[in-house]
Amino acid sequence: MENTHKNTGIKPISQTYAVLNAKCPRCRRGDMFMNPMYGFKSQKMYTSCSHCALKYERELGYFYVSMFISYALNVAQMITVGVLTYFITGNTESPWLYMGTIFPVVLILAPLNFRYSRVILLHYMTPGLNYIPSMSENKGS
Ligand SMILES: [Zn+2]
Repeated sequence: MENTHKNTGIKPISQTYAVLNAKCPRCRRGDMFMNPMYGFKSQKMYTSCSHCALKYERELGYFYVSMFISYALNVAQMITVGVLTYFITGNTESPWLYMGTIFPVVLILAPLNFRYSRVILLHYMTPGLNYIPSMSENKGS
């Protein structure tokens, strides 16, 4: 990350903010998703950024990679819930207890994993795709 010393008059947008709100990795202004994470409709992604016109799907099938990230998130969450269940209940007998805690958590977190696997892919794992603060300027200014 290089700091720009030029005074462009734009306040840089933090990566934490951009990641949490699923904003465009290049300008951190445009949204990546059309609808909220939890809702009745399935999540749809914009094909490109409304602010800087960055194409989100870098190449055909690019988001297949995010399935591996989603899978890794899933496994981490299952292990966390399993370990927590063990520490809270001390149960080593009943597989149903573990199924009963892990399964709902996985279901509840599925939309979150879908969204953040793509956010993580574009923000952290795509070489050559970086935040360009000048891109976050207001249009027409
Ligand atoms: Zn953008």
